[in-house]
Amino acid sequence: MNQDSQTCSSTVHIIGAGWSGLTCAVTLAQADIPVQLIEAAPQAGGRARTVQYRKSFPDTLLDNGQHIMLGAYHHTLKLFKQLGIKEQDVLHRQSLNLVLYSPHSPVIQLTAPALPAPLHLIIAMLTFKNISLKDRLKLVLMLVRIRIKQFILTEDCSVAELLNHYSQSPLLIEALWEPLCLATMNTPIKEASARVFLTVLEKSFNHSRQDSDLLFFKSNLSSVFVNKALNYIRQHQGEILFNHRIKNIELQTDTLSSNTFIIHTSKQTIKSSTLVLATPAYITEKLQGQIFNLKPEQSKLKFTYQPICTIYLQYPEHIKFEQVMTGFFGILSQWAIDHRINKQPGLIAVVISSSGRHLQLPEEQLVDTIHNELKLVQSDLPLWQDYQVVIEKKATFNCTVNINTIRPDFKTSHKQLFLAGDYTRTDYPATLEGAVISGMQAAQHIIEQRKR
Ligand SMILES: Cc1cc2nc3c(=O)[nH]c(=O)nc-3n(C[C@H](O)[C@H](O)[C@H](O)COP(=O)(O)OP(=O)(O)OC[C@H]3O[C@@H](n4cnc5c(N)ncnc54)[C@H](O)[C@@H]3O)c2cc1C
Repeated sequence: MNQDSQTCSSTVHIIGAGWSGLTCAVTLAQADIPVQLIEAAPQAGGRARTVQYRKSFPDTLLDNGQHIMLGAYHHTLKLFKQLGIKEQDVLHRQSLNLVLYSPHSPVIQLTAPALPAPLHLIIAMLTFKNISLKDRLKLVLMLVRIRIKQFILTEDCSVAELLNHYSQSPLLIEALWEPLCLATMNTPIKEASARVFLTVLEKSFNHSRQDSDLLFFKSNLSSVFVNKALNYIRQHQGEILFNHRIKNIELQTDTLSSNTFIIHTSKQTIKSSTLVLATPAYITEKLQGQIFNLKPEQSKLKFTYQPICTIYLQYPEHIKFEQVMTGFFGILSQWAIDHRINKQPGLIAVVISSSGRHLQLPEEQLVDTIHNELKLVQSDLPLWQDYQVVIEKKATFNCTVNINTIRPDFKTSHKQLFLAGDYTRTDYPATLEGAVISGMQAAQHIIEQRKR
């Protein structure tokens, strides 16, 4: 009991070992604050983890979905540095170059030259291949006008309404804006928040040219980050409990005016004085309800979710697409990433964000369709040798109009209870960068609290 209360007073308990929970634990461990990370799954990484799929790819580890970072992910890059992860070892950095295929249009290409921002983008727009001069000028005019307004909207609206306001043509919307919106926010343009979209544009295009770079992982997510973070936490006396699903949390009001969280996991009961919930919003909603005795209708975390489907296709090793990332419009495929940068030659990952008719297709039919669509890039593509379809049903929260009004702060009404997760109020949509920022924010606040 004595030992329990000692652990209680100094250890920070973090529930959830996704990127937000791991970041929070690493940041606290770095400040010599003892941490215990409690995770329901047998592994860490959450929605950005590496999996051994047994039926297909018996000798290859794959991520639960294709992940890409942007040069603007400054917090994630800083975290990598803190963990001794060298960017050039784990990331393939490429300046903005979008090549998009469609059966209904010639290939269009947006290439940013090596000039300072936002000049690089203006030149890219003015030289946008296979887009009419009129459309290119509309694009530049939109950029100039949103820059004058400092990327700020007084009232939120949908991305579709925003594009309409700036007279963007149907081709620009279909070939450029829709793919960008789906890739960054996983929400269709008719529903997506223009305010969040403008923030993403501001962060990626308005500062340094490198912010709009695309960063591809050279290896799987676990070996690049997750395992390194776990090692760091353990080396700093942190403890990680896997297979510990939190069933219930009670708040015990002690006589000495301090409160204790009683955490009931599937395996044991843990007492905590400082608790970080780094779980997805729908789990956090349940746990907060238990802690504060809330009725479901009192919850403020009313998010809806969007899926992401990744189709991995293994072709013979000599198959190589011209671009690391190829875009598509007007068909099911949205982006294809060539895993040659990942030392997996011949492996192509096709990403389809958000819901759509692809989710209704039988798996073999979906794979056949995608394979045929890839022939737009390489007409003599041989038949695939293996495939894996991964559908993450609740991949991200739906980043809809006025979403920021329901995103909670990392602080809660209890001064020793914190939230971390991509859904909390960071400037980003549901992304690795958002998750990392949220974990850092919660940890830094606890560090400051302990200094007082
Ligand atoms: C397929 C896919 C593709 C994506 N692509 C990109 C991309 O290209 N770029 C990008 O920036 N972002 C991308 N994202 C988004 C990114 O992966 C997420 O924003 C990020 O991983 C969220 O991290 P998190 O820590 O907030 O939440 P999570 O990763 O969901 O972590 C929560 C953790 O809590 C654990 N947990 C849940 N319930 C309990 C419980 N009761 N007890 C204990 N533990 C519990 C979970 O097991 C999990 O480990 C993608 C997501 C998916 C799914």
